[in-house]
Amino acid sequence: AVQSRVAAVTGANKGIGLAIVRNLALTYPSSPLCSGPLLIYLCARSASRGAEAVKTLQNDPQLKQAKVLAEDGGDTTITFHEFDVSDKSSIHAFRDFLQKEHPDGIDVLINNAGIAMEGFDSNVVKQTLATNYYGTLEATQSILPLIRDGGRLVNVSSMAGKLNKYTPELRDAFTSASQSGVPDCTALMQDFTSAVEAGKEKEQGWPSAAYAVSKAGTTAFTKAIAAEEDKKGRGVLINACCPGYVNTDMTKGNGVKTPDQGAKTPVMLGLEDFGGSSGGFWQSEKIIEW
Ligand code: NDP
Repeated sequence: AVQSRVAAVTGANKGIGLAIVRNLALTYPSSPLCSGPLLIYLCARSASRGAEAVKTLQNDPQLKQAKVLAEDGGDTTITFHEFDVSDKSSIHAFRDFLQKEHPDGIDVLINNAGIAMEGFDSNVVKQTLATNYYGTLEATQSILPLIRDGGRLVNVSSMAGKLNKYTPELRDAFTSASQSGVPDCTALMQDFTSAVEAGKEKEQGWPSAAYAVSKAGTTAFTKAIAAEEDKKGRGVLINACCPGYVNTDMTKGNGVKTPDQGAKTPVMLGLEDFGGSSGGFWQSEKIIEW
């Protein structure tokens, strides 16, 4: 039988995530991973927003014209699944569902869900890290074992998580954590949280920016997990990326790229041929300096 493919995108009811699902569907027919039908889970924390987003894509003029969706005679089905990245039990429920529904594994996971909160205090830090760092890490560790050999895992990080805003000591600490493993990456997130609680983050060389630190952590752990996976020799490509400065609700109309343009690099890392790299930090379809 022809191998069918399964992909999942989190935070996909709007913004870049929605554009990722749309462009996965458009790209799949010419993808090196193309083999039989593709099932895409459009994941959202709200069932109503998720179902609405699936409807939007089913009526999308470009998808209709390309005839990629099953209802238009194509090979791709988009279906909603509930997923809250800040809730461990929701992550595990999705993992268990995938395991049951697809016992031979899935092919692509794109962890896109994320938040950017206003203000800066220890509560903002806790909530931001819980979603962007701890949640994305939990989703990565829970679902990676279900990804088949040759599959892809993509974490949507950010250029806000680049290391140029840290002291040389912290920059070195991030770089070595990304090599030594997830516990060291998480220890850095804990150090930041404690520093903020003690009102000493500036003194200790941290930026007063929860989002930036959460994304530096995401890039760090993605590299660490890619290195571990490499050692297992399984051939799952694991990369972090920045979509660019994209016009979505998060950027309140200030972004310069369209969501489709922002989806380009994550979709490439999910479905296209980029020479088999793993553990990279990408932007504008290239590996960039972290
Ligand atoms: P949006 O705010 O437009 O969309 C964010 C998405 O994440 C929404 O679907 C939102 O769902 C979802 N989400 C938020 N919290 C959770 C949660 N706890 N569980 C599940 N889903 C959740 O932002 P963007 O599309 O701009 O951002 C997408 C990703 O790209 C984020 O990771 C962001 O950090 C990153 N990024 C964006 C940049 C930009 O310029 N826009 C630049 C660099 C990185 P809901 O509708 O329910 O809130």
